[in-house]
Amino acid sequence: MTGIVYKSTGSWYVVKTDDGALWECRIKGKFRIKGIKSTNPVAVGDIVDFELDDSSDKTTGTIYDIHDRKNYIVRKSVNLSHQMHIIAANIDRVFLLVTINNPPTTTSFIDRFLVTAEAYGIEAVLVFSKTDTYDEDMRDEQLYLQYVYAQIGYKCLKVSAKENKGLDELKALMKDKVSMFSGHSGVGKSTLINALEPSLDLKTKEISEQHQQGQHTTTFAEMFDLSFGAQIIDTPGIRGFGIVDMEKEEISDYFPEFFKLKNDCKFNNCLHKDEPQCAVKNALEKDEIAWSRYRSYLQILDGEDENYRTDIYGD
Ligand code: GDP
Ligand code: ZN
Repeated sequence: MTGIVYKSTGSWYVVKTDDGALWECRIKGKFRIKGIKSTNPVAVGDIVDFELDDSSDKTTGTIYDIHDRKNYIVRKSVNLSHQMHIIAANIDRVFLLVTINNPPTTTSFIDRFLVTAEAYGIEAVLVFSKTDTYDEDMRDEQLYLQYVYAQIGYKCLKVSAKENKGLDELKALMKDKVSMFSGHSGVGKSTLINALEPSLDLKTKEISEQHQQGQHTTTFAEMFDLSFGAQIIDTPGIRGFGIVDMEKEEISDYFPEFFKLKNDCKFNNCLHKDEPQCAVKNALEKDEIAWSRYRSYLQILDGEDENYRTDIYGD
């Protein structure tokens, strides 16, 4: 039988089959994922093959294979810091909630997030949240940001959970897909998800309120079916969207508008910094690339970490 992992508690995995039935499964043997050492071989979102156990109730099974992942996001293992923990797999879209104020979401944060999503191969959508709180300056700011990011090719939405605005557009983008929601604490993730599906009482809020820095919560990711034909993965207690290690030369590949110009730079290993005849810097001078994007790029390039690791905190 084949199903999707909806929940994992470490040793047990809840697998859902096409008919909607849930099966409690354990793992047989060892699964090695190419390239990473992970503490969990199977994650929420994985498509797995399993066989039913020989028990009288026949609701438990054993996973014996995982289908190839389209993508997956990781964080450092809490217990074994040299190992990775796979947070979730096979994510179609990640929605980044962006607030103008209260709390402010900086372009630097947005860009680091987008770079991470690009590196993971997950489509990111910007959701400008709490639009009912906007004054004129905030409206201008939002318009400007939308102009910058839509130009690059990112979908942008405006929502107000309070006034039920923009929810249909959001639902349309979520339909038949597996989504995740990210963004700083307080941007309105739980409120928005509850507005989309009032019957779904996500624990997100409660846990993020309890959350204290340095204290590891041992909650697990979980997938939920929404009534309009969408799935979301909730990751309570996991601060953010995972981490990615990048080579210096690789970073600009994850800025789509830089990547497009790559072959026009004089040097094929151009870092778009001090090199002559750089197409990215030319475009920047002509205002075809936003300065905020270039600043974010330099911040990541000259990053504090020798591995050019971006570490995105959603909470
Ligand atoms: P989370 O930490 O991202 O899950 O954010 P919450 O959903 O807990 O929301 C944080 C605060 O923002 C709460 O006080 C919400 O009532 C408020 N909030 C959320 N969405 C909206 C909205 O659309 N409009 C307004 N005015 N407030 C909102
Ligand atoms: Zn260049």
